[in-house]
Amino acid sequence: MKNRFFPFGLLSLLLSVLAFSLCACGEAFCVRSFDSMGAFMTVRCYGENAEDACRAIEETVRTVEKEISVTIPGSTVSSINSAADFPVKIGGTTKELLVFSLHVAEITDGAFNPALFPVSSAWGFPTGEYSVPAGDEIRRLLELTDFRNIRIDGANLYMERGMKLDFGAVGKGFAGDCAAGRLAEFGVASAVLDLGGNICVIGKKPDGSDWRIGIKSPWDDGVAAAVSVHDCSVVTSGGYERFFVADGKTYVHIIDGATGFPVENEILSATVVCRSGAYADALSTAVFVLGTERAVALWQARRDFEMILMCRGDSVLYTPGLTGSLSFIHDFKIVEIAEE
Ligand code: ADP
Ligand code: MG
Repeated sequence: MKNRFFPFGLLSLLLSVLAFSLCACGEAFCVRSFDSMGAFMTVRCYGENAEDACRAIEETVRTVEKEISVTIPGSTVSSINSAADFPVKIGGTTKELLVFSLHVAEITDGAFNPALFPVSSAWGFPTGEYSVPAGDEIRRLLELTDFRNIRIDGANLYMERGMKLDFGAVGKGFAGDCAAGRLAEFGVASAVLDLGGNICVIGKKPDGSDWRIGIKSPWDDGVAAAVSVHDCSVVTSGGYERFFVADGKTYVHIIDGATGFPVENEILSATVVCRSGAYADALSTAVFVLGTERAVALWQARRDFEMILMCRGDSVLYTPGLTGSLSFIHDFKIVEIAEE
């Protein structure tokens, strides 16, 4: 919700300065903040070319945004979403991201689904003009969300008329990977990118220690836990991030494609830790949709990510790969997930 007294635009204008200085260990660093993809982002790079690297990160994120945004009218994804007939041409970033998204949709059995836009639009999530759609409308729109009806053949994309793409649950993580991939050009081996809560750390801190990343508490405004990592992405999906209340009921911005309704389960926030930002972002959304039991089953079947689930009743579950790097700020009911 916007702060009436301190509009987000003004806040970001004030913070959107380029700070270049030396850290305690004598390494030059630069911090840059900007708004993109509907989020406030802050990046910090270390090294002689840190300033140029920070600029390149912003430019890279904006380039990805211009291509995949569903709210920028001229973006590639907007053009696909308004196409009257298929096939349409697809390539570059959009194709790469769609191929990846369809893979994650497949392995999560549609919990992550890049084709839910018709349904999330009916709830008003893309625009903020919220309303509870009629059951009939949800059922009708769900017909247009089967990701298995999306087919890519070379440069051609085939979908059913009325289907629409939405990379809102994977785009920031993907943009982080693209930005991180440019840092070597600038000789930057140490950096932390906070792309609206999607964290991507490159290397270790200049003093050789791991980065300590705070995980927001879904119970209050503070931090509930911290994880120490290097060369890694840490992404959280939480119902508290965007929601609306109608007739006393809370509706979160993450949709369960099985029902067409906003997710309602015991998970308050799902954090995924793994190397790829796109995978962490897509999976954090998927895990949130799946609920604890099916999320644990997914992890047990794949073992290519770590996760922390903060649930109703003050309980926290985490995968054993995080043992030793995870610390908790409060006395929760903490459960280490069993290997089998
Ligand atoms: P945030 O963008 O707040 O970090 P997420 O990464 O979980 O949170 O993405 C949520 C966004 O993804 C929604 O705003 C919507 O655009 C889209 N979305 C909603 N439900 C799903 C889903 N089940 N699968 C894929 N995308 C979704
Ligand atoms: Mg996500």
